[in-house]
Parts: sequence; C-alpha cells; structure tokens
Amino acid sequence: MLEQKVKTSLFRVFGGQGSGRALAVRKELAVSQYWPRAEIDTYQRTRLMELLDIAVQSCPYYRRLIHDPLKSDGVSAREVLAQLPLLYKADVRRHWTELQTRRRDIVRLQCFQTGGSTGEPLRVCKDRRGLAEVSASILRGHSWAELQLGDRTASIKAHGRVSRLGKLRQALLNAVSFSSCADQGVLRAEVIPALKQFRPRCITGYPTSLLGLASELRPREIVIPIILVTGEMLFQHQRTTLEDVFGGQVFQYYGSNEVSGIAFQCNKGALHVTDEQVIVEILDEAGQQVWDRVGRIVLTDLRNVGMPLIRYEIGDLGSITREICECGRTLTVIKELQGRTQDVIIGDNGVQLSGVFFAGRFRDLKYVRSYQLVQKDPTLVQLNYVPAGDGADAEISSMIRAIGEKLGCTVVVQPVPCDELSLTRAGKTRLVVGLVGGPAPI
Ligand SMILES: [Zn+2]
Repeated sequence: MLEQKVKTSLFRVFGGQGSGRALAVRKELAVSQYWPRAEIDTYQRTRLMELLDIAVQSCPYYRRLIHDPLKSDGVSAREVLAQLPLLYKADVRRHWTELQTRRRDIVRLQCFQTGGSTGEPLRVCKDRRGLAEVSASILRGHSWAELQLGDRTASIKAHGRVSRLGKLRQALLNAVSFSSCADQGVLRAEVIPALKQFRPRCITGYPTSLLGLASELRPREIVIPIILVTGEMLFQHQRTTLEDVFGGQVFQYYGSNEVSGIAFQCNKGALHVTDEQVIVEILDEAGQQVWDRVGRIVLTDLRNVGMPLIRYEIGDLGSITREICECGRTLTVIKELQGRTQDVIIGDNGVQLSGVFFAGRFRDLKYVRSYQLVQKDPTLVQLNYVPAGDGADAEISSMIRAIGEKLGCTVVVQPVPCDELSLTRAGKTRLVVGLVGGPAPI
C-alpha cells in the first residue's frame, strides 16, 4: 500500500505535464466505466455540445462550416453528429491553422505528428487539459490489464533513443525502452540480457516488434505477465505466439497520434471504447451509422478543445457493438478492427482481400519468416518475403497460387525475396499495402 503511494507520488512528479490532473480523472473514470448506459449517453451528449460550442465560437474552420443551428433537442450525441460532415486527413492538412481554437484561455497547444504510414505525415495539436485526460484513459486501460503505476515496464519503441533526462525519468518510473529496429545480433547480445536482468511485469510495442523479439526466445525463457500491443493489426496467431513465448496475457490498445486512448482491452478480451472521452461511429458505404457490422471508423475527440477533431475519419475499418461485456463495464465494445481502409488488395474480379484474409490463410508458414503484399497497379501485386530455409520457394509458389485464385486471372503476383521488410516512418510493418488513392474497400 505504502509502496503504491510512493509510486503514485513519483508519477505525480515525474509523469509529465498534467499528471496530477490525470490521477484525478483516473478516479472519475474508475466510476464512470460502470455507469448505466443512459448516463454515459447523456454525458457524451453534454460534452459534445460543449465541444461544438467552443468549435463554432473559436475555430474559423467550424465557424464557416456550421452556420445553421443543429437539431439538438431530444436527440442523442450520435444524432447530433450525423448532421455534420466528415473531417478527412486532407481537411486537417489544408485547414490546420483554422482548426485550432482562438480562445486565449486555452494556450500552449502541443503538436503531435503521425507516422504517415499511408502517405504524408499529419500534425495534430492538443491542449493540456485534454492531454491529461488522455493519460487518465491510459492509466485506466492499464488497470484493466492489472498493470499498476510504477510496475516494471519495458517498451519496444520505434525510436528507442532516449535522452539522459528521459532515462532518469524512466528509471524513476520503473520503465525501460529498446529500439524496435534492433537486428537479431543486437537482440541477442543486448536486449535479451537486459530484459532478463530487468524482469519486466509488462512489455509493450507493435505486434511485429514483439514477435521479432519472441522469435529469438525459447518459450518462457523470459516470463512477462502482461503484453500490451498497439499500432498495428493484431492477428489471432500472433496473439497466441506472444502468449506462448512470454507466458502472459496479450492486451490490445487502440489509439493513434491524432486521437489517443480510443479503446483498451479488458481482462475478458473485449476492446472497450473510452466513451467518456471519444465517440466512435462506424459508417457504412452510404455514410449511415451502423452497429455490429464492419465499416469506416469515424472519431470525435471530446477532450481536444485546442484543435477539435469532430467526425474525423481516421482511415481504419472496424465494427462496434452494444452487447454488454462480462466484465460489467457498460462502455461500447469494438468488436473487430480490420486495419486501414487502404490496406486491401483488389482483384480484377472486384474481390478485396485485407490482412485478415492473408494472416488467416497463411498462418502456418514454416520457411517464410515474414511477408508483405504490395499492390503496385491494378494488375500487379508484389509479394515481398524474407525466406527462412530451403522450403521457402515451395511455400511462396503455393501462396501465389492461392492468392491468384482469389484475385482473378489478370492479376500477376510477383515474388521478391529480401533480407528484411521495409518499415513505415513510424517503424510499423504493414502486411498489406493497397494502391494509394485506390477505391475504399467498402
Ligand atoms: Zn469488458
């Protein structure tokens, strides 16, 4: 108990700007996660109307966009949102300054840059109060995995270099980080011995970074109870491998640099939306809100009054449900995440294959260490792969046959062996890279 108090105090001092407020909001979130659904709906609506008010009053972009009064009497937050147009990445780039608030009491916006895995990087600003709320949502998400403040945590990060001050802060908070770009030699000589000495309770990183580390370890050579993954699609066989090697439980976190802390996995396996802070809509091909079926994910970040993102189309596919989780939390559940809207291979017959298809169909490869499909043009798909033994040619030939059968006869699948797959600017691996500017999959 005393130890936890010390760890909380260290977080309050060294946890970054707004850590005190984050701790206070965390307490509120611990209660609101069990609110009756109607109470969450009312809360969302109130926050949305406040956000819209600020946006229209103080952001030139929204002032121009929303001139007619919205129908708000007796309608839900989602019904209010349905009256508004979507905000695309291109809009954020084009109207970057106009999207920011002119309110003088909301100062010192902090900017974040996305990795730009599907093209140009994108910058989004956030205000400090909103950032503290984000931290609180992350603390709550961690608590669902039974990860407490100050528990020993190792991160495998895309940019592993940490400043001296950063290292000191990490040491005080019981954290350590390694570069996800480490090759096999560095993993064996440096990262694995350091992890054995550090004995983390939690390891966090992109699924492919953690799988790269796992491939150098015998099962349970290092036992890590909590495995937090984020940033890329997580496929079932990857989850199984990570749990087998580290002997722990995988917990998924869905967030992005534009909108952080969107959803966290509970101990019953459901990915719960941070409903108090973010409204997740799923839109079908006609732009209508849908439940229990896959569509485009559209987000409204209720926290960010500094640069309001209202109905922001993040470029991911997924589905949400109103089904209540066994854990008793009433928060919306993300039933499925299917990766980026552009991450599909399209056949001449109109068939569209996402990473979910390839990961499921080719989960038992023995002689192909990793692979990636890149659609170069409507009739050419490049299959980049890293061979891992003499049987690679046979496995690749059978993959090409299977993919060809799905995509139709004019699409050529061209195998390209390589030493390693290229990463995005954010250090992520993409299983499927669709045609840039190609049609959306639904
Ligand atoms: Zn749950």
